[in-house]
Amino acid sequence: MAVPKSKISRSRRNQRRAHDSLKPATHEECPNCGELKRRHHVCADCGHYDSREVIEAREAV
Ligand SMILES: [Zn+2]
Repeated sequence: MAVPKSKISRSRRNQRRAHDSLKPATHEECPNCGELKRRHHVCADCGHYDSREVIEAREAV
């Protein structure tokens, strides 16, 4: 089994983990209905993508 040659200091370990945080998902307005939607995703509200394709539409409650 591979064994580390020396202990990683708290500083080194924390420097490595400095880049591990998750960033919030980016949202932008749907060009069709104006609702916020995730980038590169079909709009959950009106089912549009690429400004014309209606893949699926959610019925209004
Ligand atoms: Zn939409």
